[in-house]
Amino acid sequence: MVHGDDAGLRMPPRVAPIQVVIVPIWRKELEREAVATLATEVEAALKGAGIRVRADWREERPGFKFNDWELRGVPVRIEVGPRDAQNGQAVLVPRTDRTAKETLSKESVARRLPEMLAEIHRTLYEQALAFRRSRTHRVASYDEFKEILADRARMGFVEGWWCGDGQCEAEVKAETQATIRCLPLEQPGGSGPCIHCGRTGTQWVIFAKAY
Ligand SMILES: [Zn+2]
Repeated sequence: MVHGDDAGLRMPPRVAPIQVVIVPIWRKELEREAVATLATEVEAALKGAGIRVRADWREERPGFKFNDWELRGVPVRIEVGPRDAQNGQAVLVPRTDRTAKETLSKESVARRLPEMLAEIHRTLYEQALAFRRSRTHRVASYDEFKEILADRARMGFVEGWWCGDGQCEAEVKAETQATIRCLPLEQPGGSGPCIHCGRTGTQWVIFAKAY
């Protein structure tokens, strides 16, 4: 839910069961052997480098395979076509930006991939963090608190001081359906007026509605 996009899941490389999928592409039967040889060679090099790789030999169209692996969130696709087989190269396509294709010699694929996987991992983390930040609002008053929770466009987390009284939280829940999601480990320190009752709060908390 955090990392997906319109094409489906986006698996962070470090936890992806398949980190790289190789899609061999040929039209004519006589192109098949050269493509298969190169695809197998690249697959072996990646396995040797400790990368979780799979080659897709199904009898399906390349476009079907591309969509299928994007849906499943595989971080990198490697395309190997007849011209690539001729030139001893492969095309790497990162799941996070399919326009950022890289054409590499077959020898450098296994060297480049750990780096590319690390970049994808970092990109997903940064995008998730930026999204969470954009959906986290600090509020100064209870009116503002209610306004944000009622606004579908801004809905998300609301941060503020809390008095520590369970009864106060229960009142917030009764009125807005929001409850405290967590007390962040990194507390700002000091104190401020409770988001709801205005009494002194020393705990910085995050409220949200559950769905
Ligand atoms: Zn309170």
